[in-house]
Amino acid sequence: EKTLLTPERRPDDVDQSIRPLSLSEFIGQRAARANMQIFIEAAKKTGQALDHVLFVGPPGLGKTTLAQIVARELGVNFRSTSGPVIAKAGDLAAQLTNLEERDVLFIDEIHRLNPAVEEILYPAMEDYQLDLIIGEGPAARSVKIELPKFTLVGATTRAGLLTTPLRDRFGIPIRLEFYEIDELELIVRRGARVLGLGMSEEGANEIAKRARGTPRIAGRLLRRVRDFAIVADAPTVTREIADRALQLLDVDPVGLDVMDRKYLTLIASSFGGGPVGIETIAAALSEPRDAIEDIIEPYLIQKGFVQRTPRGRVLTPHAFRHMGFAEPRRDPA
Ligand code: ADP
Repeated sequence: EKTLLTPERRPDDVDQSIRPLSLSEFIGQRAARANMQIFIEAAKKTGQALDHVLFVGPPGLGKTTLAQIVARELGVNFRSTSGPVIAKAGDLAAQLTNLEERDVLFIDEIHRLNPAVEEILYPAMEDYQLDLIIGEGPAARSVKIELPKFTLVGATTRAGLLTTPLRDRFGIPIRLEFYEIDELELIVRRGARVLGLGMSEEGANEIAKRARGTPRIAGRLLRRVRDFAIVADAPTVTREIADRALQLLDVDPVGLDVMDRKYLTLIASSFGGGPVGIETIAAALSEPRDAIEDIIEPYLIQKGFVQRTPRGRVLTPHAFRHMGFAEPRRDPA
């Protein structure tokens, strides 16, 4: 189920207007930004294509946005596709041959490329060459096509999902982290300005606290709070307005949603707080293991609600307190 707090892109995420357009407008991710700045400047000075970049991190943290910024800062075209969309090697070949020198080709969910497509990406990334087989059977022959020197920007939720040969071909791997509350406050206030909405510091804080460290969710909550403020005839979003709006939407004060609560409740009530293996959790929640590891757990771990141990997942006392569960009795030593 896709809720308000799901970090994956939803069709109603019409957020083009509040997307930052330059590295200097981009808030947070200080380490990533500092690195990008240097690599981009070097590429501009030498006039060469920027090395291939891999962005790794949970959904909604700004991978697509950064890829667009890279193209903009380099002053080149931005072409975009995604792993699951490229069905055949020919589809990718068509994309690659349409590029101009130094263009950015963005492939979202690059870990979901099919192996035949991935094969043609290796020489394309390494030597800017396309090795194609034309025709079938005895008449088949292979041709090499020179490609323009382009930059591939890949995005994935976890580096471990990529094959080693693909991962090794990215010269610039960049990991994105969850945002701090004060960074999300800045993102909310900037978004409010763009939307022409009055926003107090406390109102922005109330939204930021529930955004799960994720700008996409901050933007989504901001738009819902705006609707509420319009209906309530409130000229400015105060803490009270934001709080009322978000409570109405059933958003937990620290941003936990239905799935998080199901996950925490399961480990607490059925497994005495753990340790419990990920496969067991996945089966009990009827959710794919990947979705749990990519979407649910990163935020719960970052919040200190759950720990990954060699023997399985363990709830922390903090999680028990937050959820109002009685803490499990420890065996007397
Ligand atoms: P991803 O590709 O990692 O899933 P996106 O790049 O699509 O994430 O970003 C999701 C949303 O969050 C977009 O609306 C984007 O404008 C916004 N966003 C992401 N990072 C920032 C940031 N640092 N500052 C402001 N807005 C951001």
